Amino acid sequence: MRIILLGPPGSGKGTQASRLCQELNISHISTGDILRDEAKAGSNLGKEAKSFMDKGELVPDRLVTEIIRERLSQKEPNDFILDGYPRNIAQAKALDEILEQNNKPMDMAIYLDTSEATIIQRLSGRRVCQKCGFNFHIINMPPKKDMLCDFCGSKLFKRKDDEADTIKKRLAVYLKETSSLIDYYTRQNKLTKISADRQASLVYDELLDLFDYLKVQR
Ligand code: AMP
Repeated sequence: MRIILLGPPGSGKGTQASRLCQELNISHISTGDILRDEAKAGSNLGKEAKSFMDKGELVPDRLVTEIIRERLSQKEPNDFILDGYPRNIAQAKALDEILEQNNKPMDMAIYLDTSEATIIQRLSGRRVCQKCGFNFHIINMPPKKDMLCDFCGSKLFKRKDDEADTIKKRLAVYLKETSSLIDYYTRQNKLTKISADRQASLVYDELLDLFDYLKVQR
């Protein structure tokens, strides 16, 4: 199963992809997570990427596409969900080429359709575990103990790019760069739209049904 999850920041791509990948035992490839890990580790790639990420801008295509090319050119993973890549038409074209070269055709692009009000509510309340990376939300999914991760006990923090001004910037970047991918995958006859303004568990159930359907079609 090879899926692209599309949607604005705050549409729940990361949350849904990690649950689905755990359930279905497939790989979760998140360029945002990979870049944040690189930034934490202080690598050259991480340092270069961080300056763009903190401002809510896209990291240059050459850096992210190299990460994806490297991951998808190995035998494994064969089944995966791409979360956060592609982010513009140039990346989508590069991805088409990488998948073709590696004989790993994409099954579907799923667009998590989300209103601006939901996006702002989700991102401004998001808190992330600094150690294991698990996402909480101060209202929708509060931790059991104040500002501590339920799973590893580490402190939760607000991502720098979840500050109000940066959220606005990320939304503008999404509209300018990423939203055109909806048309791109519609033209390829690969797009399925799901309403993601609902509770995460309802979206998850619909995604699982869709995956069952895809398995039967394969
Ligand atoms: P995310 O966790 O997907 O919201 O990504 C966080 C940040 O990482 C984005 O705002 C970008 O700065 C960067 N990023 C993640 N994926 C990409 C990508 N495919 N292309 C460019 N920048 C990306």
